[in-house]
Amino acid sequence: MTQNEPSSSRAHKAAARYIYAWGGGRAEGDATMRDLLGGKGAGLAEMTLAGLPVPAGFTITTAACNDYFAAGEHLPEGLWEDIVEAIHEVERQTGKGFGDPANPLLVSVRSGARFSMPGMMDTVLNLGLNEQTLQGLVALTGNERFGWDAYRRFIQMFGRIVLGVSPERFDHALEQKKASRGASLDTELGAADMRDLVAEFQAIVLADTGSPFPSDPYQQLDLSVKAVFASWFGKRANDYRNSQKIAHDLGTAVNVVTMVFGNMGDDSGTGVAFTRDPNTGEKVLFGEYLTNAQGEDVVAGIRTAPRISEMQTEMPEVYAEFLRIGQQLERHYRDVQDLEFTIERGKLYMLQTRSAKRTAAAAVRIASDMVEEGLITKEEAINRVEPAHVDQLLRDQFDPIALAAAKRVARGLNASPGAAVGRAVFDADVAVEWVGRGEQVVLVRIETSPDDFHGMAVAEGILTARGGATSHAAVVARQIGKPCVAGCAELLIDYRTGRARSSESGLEFGEGDWISVDGSTGQVYLDAVPTVAARFEDQPDLQRILGWADEVRRMGVWTNADKPEEAARARSYGAEGIGLCRTEHMFREGDRLEIVRGAILVANQATRAKARRDAGEMPNADDAALITEFDAAMAKLEVLQQGDFEGIFTAMDGLPVVIRLIDPPLHEFLPNLEEQLVKVTKAGDAATPEDRQLLATIQSMHEQNPMLGLRGCRLGLMIPDFVKIQTRAILNAQIAVTKAGVKPIAKIMIPLVGHVNELARTRQILEAEATAVEAKAGVHVDYKFGTMIEVPRGALTADEIAREADFFSFGTNDLTQMTFGFSRDDAEGGFLLKYVEDKILPVNPFQTLDDAVAGLMKMAVDKGRSTKPGLELGICGEHGGDPESIFKCEKIGLDYVSCSPFRVPVARLAAAQAALSNAAERDK
Ligand code: PEP
Ligand code: MG
Repeated sequence: MTQNEPSSSRAHKAAARYIYAWGGGRAEGDATMRDLLGGKGAGLAEMTLAGLPVPAGFTITTAACNDYFAAGEHLPEGLWEDIVEAIHEVERQTGKGFGDPANPLLVSVRSGARFSMPGMMDTVLNLGLNEQTLQGLVALTGNERFGWDAYRRFIQMFGRIVLGVSPERFDHALEQKKASRGASLDTELGAADMRDLVAEFQAIVLADTGSPFPSDPYQQLDLSVKAVFASWFGKRANDYRNSQKIAHDLGTAVNVVTMVFGNMGDDSGTGVAFTRDPNTGEKVLFGEYLTNAQGEDVVAGIRTAPRISEMQTEMPEVYAEFLRIGQQLERHYRDVQDLEFTIERGKLYMLQTRSAKRTAAAAVRIASDMVEEGLITKEEAINRVEPAHVDQLLRDQFDPIALAAAKRVARGLNASPGAAVGRAVFDADVAVEWVGRGEQVVLVRIETSPDDFHGMAVAEGILTARGGATSHAAVVARQIGKPCVAGCAELLIDYRTGRARSSESGLEFGEGDWISVDGSTGQVYLDAVPTVAARFEDQPDLQRILGWADEVRRMGVWTNADKPEEAARARSYGAEGIGLCRTEHMFREGDRLEIVRGAILVANQATRAKARRDAGEMPNADDAALITEFDAAMAKLEVLQQGDFEGIFTAMDGLPVVIRLIDPPLHEFLPNLEEQLVKVTKAGDAATPEDRQLLATIQSMHEQNPMLGLRGCRLGLMIPDFVKIQTRAILNAQIAVTKAGVKPIAKIMIPLVGHVNELARTRQILEAEATAVEAKAGVHVDYKFGTMIEVPRGALTADEIAREADFFSFGTNDLTQMTFGFSRDDAEGGFLLKYVEDKILPVNPFQTLDDAVAGLMKMAVDKGRSTKPGLELGICGEHGGDPESIFKCEKIGLDYVSCSPFRVPVARLAAAQAALSNAAERDK
């Protein structure tokens, strides 16, 4: 690379420097300046510095965009003079003149933000053309048709993008012209046709805007620059930024680049290519190109382009050069590049390079391969894969057996993998509306444009009739992780009737019909085809990356599992322990609910009778009967629970298992109060004594706010037999599996502790029972005793609570509920979504750990460790599987996160990324 000139050296009339130029092997910007120059501008500068063939041009910075808005949508003073000077410089570089009829300089004007944004403004090509310069272009190329075609394209693009004329207006005129000539392709129209179209397009502009099409190149440039700036706050761009969590105050740069023409004949062409396959990650040049075409023809998918490999036979030398440049850029950026190029009369020009968007499968394979190739480190590979990618790879596929019997409608390109099932809709707004009322949809379009983004974002999948693997639909679908079948040419879509019919199979479907779209194979089926879970075992690249993640992460990754099968699955995903076994989940299995109900119905009375007995009173016959009934039910439960624990210990042989004692309010196991009341009232005198008794018990247990009522440790203190039987079941299960050669590591956890005395008292009950079990079995049984921190008072007094606990596990579901004072059962289905929509809250705090809740956790960690330095700390709320929350857990200094089995792989990656980011911050 050549030495870059100092960035302040360009003279400028504006108060600040807003322009960075490149050309002739020199550039004022470079790849490090993405914030100021946007991705495109930084890439063009860097490619120029690398000695690659890049047409001369300049970037107007993102700062200019921000200052433009700050000044009430006026160009900062002096900027226009600086732009004019920059144009003169391009004139000197190219030897052409802007507006010069003899040798016209034409430019493209393109937006280019810090992050690539498919929702932003499209490119305006051929700017600088008017009736006079057009003649120069015709004379220089000797090709009248080419000149008029260039001009009609310019009016069409400028009219649509800068002047806001509806694209259908131009499309309609073009289609009519083709029909009148019996032509099916644009290329079949002659020079006279193009000249007619120019006149028609000009008339459309005049009719729709009230002004003639601007002929002064400088006026064209001024309007285009402002249109690019304005597009930053356009609806499409706003929607896109919201969906991708991109800040709204970054601004966009504007790139003004000398035009090169891919439509100057059969030795010209244009294309888009990736240095590796962005679908699979395979190391092959992947892309499409069209001979005798301009850039937008490929990207918009207007003509379905041949594969780039065909260029090898058609233009072998250019292909070889392009291959070499691609490899050079990939090595330089140490990442897969997405390249745009144009060939003008046999000469190759590079128009863009940027890191390629890729599917989850490709991201994982590329990261893994690049480590093998020595191009990147393992740490970089970990950071190249997004947690969402891992999530996608574990997404469902179609059930192969059901698929074999499914009715195939059509086949297109496998543009973005995965299985999507939904009802067909043909319009993005309709998609949003249907999804809003709870439907699942597949968006079906002839082709998509950035205007369809909102519909694509809510759809299960996307199906288009036109466009290839680099069309808008394909690129966006890959990026947002939606299955997509593109370029399904046999599908004749009629928006008017809301139907699509395959010209091959003759099958059809209409709006609202279920369809299934396989983005991995390109097949489209009628009806909803069942899906099956993706198999983690079959993904060696993912496993390799996660293996590297395991080497660098500090926190453990455990799982929340209640059943042996879940535990086994989580273990196969790499879980290193169970962080939460919710014992009461097993109470609902099979006929257990009846047993549990039997115990609950007499629990309060029996507990009181036992208390009287233990105080030395002789039980009367009723008390004795109650105690017997209760103990019998609890004994059955104990046997069943011991079996559960044996299964879990066996599945997690040698790994820790945190078993939480009973937590929910007891009414959760009883019939609904209203239903029982209706039943008894309706039956009147005929109501059975059992139903009346049940109603009385439900009424006696009714609480206004059960989630804040008799649950968690409170329940164990009021009805100690729950603690006792669960303790016996756990310890006896340990004894039993140990005999079978299994190594159980038990951690008994008490929920909802707010005061240290609650924990101390529970501990007494539990230890007495444990001692009894040990004495009876004649063996010592190891277990740890700990608590959840999920009540704010518990966090605030964690130093006291730590005296009684070997470990803490943060129950952030309850901690969030109680810190905000939101009911977790009601808020998410109610006002919370609106809160997030209206930005009263930045995110749903039940999904992503809120900073204030994280602050409470940090306080509890510090207080807990001040009492007991070796205190083990984990999280078992839902946040334990959320990547952003995992970053916060790393900062807080937890020892492990625990999440649902399917999120274990994601958590392994996120924990590693969090450790790397923390280490990088420390190094700073
Ligand atoms: C919690 O509150 O975060 C927790 C894990 O417990 P549960 O969701 O069972 O209340
Ligand atoms: Mg809880």
